[in-house]
Amino acid sequence: MNAHCEPRPIIFQPAGKADILRLLTCKGKMQQALFRAARVARQAAGMDAVKLRGVIEISNYCQKSCDYCAIRPQNKEMVRYRMPVDTILAITEEIVAEGISTVFLQSGQDPKSDAIVYEAIPRIRTLGVNVLLNLGEKSRETYARYVAAGADSYILKFETSDPNLYAAIVGTPLAKRLECARWIQEVGMKLGTGNIIGLPGQTLDTLAEDILLAQEMQPNFVSSSPFIPNENTPLERLNMGDLQLTLNSIAICRLLFPNALIPAVSALEKICKGGQLLGLQAGANVLTINFTPKDFRDKYAIYSKERFVVSLDHAQATISGAGLQIR
Ligand code: SAM
Repeated sequence: MNAHCEPRPIIFQPAGKADILRLLTCKGKMQQALFRAARVARQAAGMDAVKLRGVIEISNYCQKSCDYCAIRPQNKEMVRYRMPVDTILAITEEIVAEGISTVFLQSGQDPKSDAIVYEAIPRIRTLGVNVLLNLGEKSRETYARYVAAGADSYILKFETSDPNLYAAIVGTPLAKRLECARWIQEVGMKLGTGNIIGLPGQTLDTLAEDILLAQEMQPNFVSSSPFIPNENTPLERLNMGDLQLTLNSIAICRLLFPNALIPAVSALEKICKGGQLLGLQAGANVLTINFTPKDFRDKYAIYSKERFVVSLDHAQATISGAGLQIR
């Protein structure tokens, strides 16, 4: 659907928690109006062109024990790896050859991969692309070293704004995570953050608070991701997060963060074929293409062993299906 010929939106700008709660659960005509308003806001902000990122999953070692995540150390089924710098560079060349201008390094929270990252970033930068990181909670000094090496942005999701729920599921304090997010901004990186939708014990009120917390954090990127049950984790028997709630959350975020990069995450496609297209139609404007080679990728099963792996072809088809262009 092309935002250029959208009718005028009938949705008002959400002004507080009551509005967010109302929009989170909207259905039918109201939901379509919400998505239309989100697309209009995206277009008005000049954010219609879809940003592509190329992700490389550089290590699946992790210090944290998040109940939803398969790379938690308690998962003894997981074969661990740390990618050598030369492999990261070779993959970066593939990303650059596809014309993608952001290389996204993701890993478990793995202090031993920091040396690899410090060495890889300046070498990636010589290829003329930006470096986005998603490596977990680090010291302020480590974040500053990433910046000195040439990184310009960092994703650290708060996962849930409920401190009790966060502590119960992740096992560490939410306050620590939020402190890290502040450090990321203070050392000069753009911040991406967001939540997981569908965690046990989460309520609609929590989801509205998630959006309000994101507003306080003033991020450059914001995501709403559905929970995906993952083999060999304490939450493996839970249902997937709700697609409609996730799409509504994306659209509300677009209204509240018109200038933000908002991903249509691969987990949407895992929930339903065409889920990322629905994400773009709800106001998202980022797709992340997975460039991790298969032998490593199979060991990075954060969205279940049968996760949806986003290829460039899939991303291009999804973007043209949404009537949008690549940035
Ligand atoms: N270790 C880093 C951190 O703590 O931010 C980054 C890597 S972590 C694997 C990346 C993200 O994956 C997490 O922020 C979390 O939101 C998401 N994630 C992991 N397992 C998930 C699941 N089963 N369902 C939905 N999201 C999940």
